[in-house]
Amino acid sequence: MTVTASALLEHRFADTLPELSLDWQAVPAPSPSLLALDEDLARELGLDPDWLRSPAGLRFLIGNDVPEGARPVAQGYAGHQFGGYSPRLGDGRALLLGEIVTPDGSLRDLHLKGSGRTPFSRGGDGWATVGPMLREQVMATAMHALGVPTTRSLAVTGTGAEVARETLLPGAVLTRVASSHLRVGTFQYAAALVAGGHAPAGLLDRLTEHAIDRHYPQLTDADRPGLALLTAVAQAQARLVAHWMSLGFVHGVLNTDNVLISGETIDYGPCAFADTFDPSAVFSSIDQGGRYASGNQPRITQWNLARFAEALLPVIDENVDTAVELASEVINDFPSHYDDAFAARMATRLGLDPETADRALVKDLVELMQTEQADITLLFQDLTRVAGGEVGTFADRPAYAEWLARWLTHHPDAQAMATANPVYIPRNHLVQAALDAAVAGDLEPVNQLLDVLREPFTVRAGFEDYARPAPSDFGDYVTYCGT
Ligand code: AMP
Ligand code: MG
Repeated sequence: MTVTASALLEHRFADTLPELSLDWQAVPAPSPSLLALDEDLARELGLDPDWLRSPAGLRFLIGNDVPEGARPVAQGYAGHQFGGYSPRLGDGRALLLGEIVTPDGSLRDLHLKGSGRTPFSRGGDGWATVGPMLREQVMATAMHALGVPTTRSLAVTGTGAEVARETLLPGAVLTRVASSHLRVGTFQYAAALVAGGHAPAGLLDRLTEHAIDRHYPQLTDADRPGLALLTAVAQAQARLVAHWMSLGFVHGVLNTDNVLISGETIDYGPCAFADTFDPSAVFSSIDQGGRYASGNQPRITQWNLARFAEALLPVIDENVDTAVELASEVINDFPSHYDDAFAARMATRLGLDPETADRALVKDLVELMQTEQADITLLFQDLTRVAGGEVGTFADRPAYAEWLARWLTHHPDAQAMATANPVYIPRNHLVQAALDAAVAGDLEPVNQLLDVLREPFTVRAGFEDYARPAPSDFGDYVTYCGT
């Protein structure tokens, strides 16, 4: 059944963990207009796209018309930002509208970004603008279609208000869907509340139980729920970051408040896809030291997981030495989980069995791609053609000859490769041009781009430009945090 007039929103987070949120409402928008809507996602959630496009639907999408019984909250969380600890971040411009029960019975957070000030706003104005919110829509759509675990963007709605940045910019609200917004920073916040005597000791156990219930129900009866959760999250993060790395994705702001317990990617601010395997790739204007450079992402994720482990210590064991020992083992195992996940991901791209593939083959190709500065997407397209018996453009290059011959002796599966290697990724020059046009009032390029990115593995006639790298005069790409 498709819900129209009043979608039912649960409030399990707010009810179960009252210490971690504050009841709050979105600020009314003067003149809402729909800029983007993911109709497939709407239907997955049991929402009628036609209704969402109506004035009542728009008010629902931006939290200006809250279904009866819903209980929107601003969530509290802490976080290490660029290594420095902030004890109280929280939803400074966001709200959790509630959890929606989808027709297939799963629970999804419905969340707003850019809905106005909250008690967590600190110096911020609570707003978001059209460019960065459409950027989330584009990147999340691409990542989901590529098969990468990610939060999703249901809609971007212009508010009709102007927001003061360096210039006046059009305001917008993103309606985000996630399997939850539980972050490493949520656990840090809870641990600090307990340690400071501001919350009962049971809060961390309750949060752990809630996280297991939502994301890892198979751990419900674990002997040590805290340790089991840490292990599961570390493995999910290893797989996630390996997936990013196999595609050249650079998140750009891997603070602990941007690391989800579910293992989904969150917060498409200064992120970008690098064309090549370049460990030093940095796009974010604020990442001067390259802390979140492409090649640092596995190491930084391990560091973030260590902060998660610290917050969980009291739940892991009442004896702190025992807890530290158990947690350290999990954190120390992270690199090998990551290596396994990356090798498996790359083997899949190479049309080989991820369980048994020759690791040296992957390692040698990555080195080769680095020295040759190969465009990742184009190279794997080429290899897919070679596996199918065609002559490749790269096959003729002497640098690849030895490796290519070795790879072919493993009989790569060309059909499997066609479903693992995208033709279209959100290339920086395309994203930037589409967002610039949208901010100037022309939504056509962003709609076109979204259309292409929804089916990244299918070659489409007339879309050749979307498959090409940036023109040589595009220059170094710089991204800015989405404020
Ligand atoms: P982010 O960079 O989006 O992960 O946000 C980091 C923190 O800054 C979060 O606590 C946000 O709620 C807060 N924040 C970012 N932009 C704003 C804004 N314009 N107004 C209020 N809070 C903000
Ligand atoms: Mg964030």
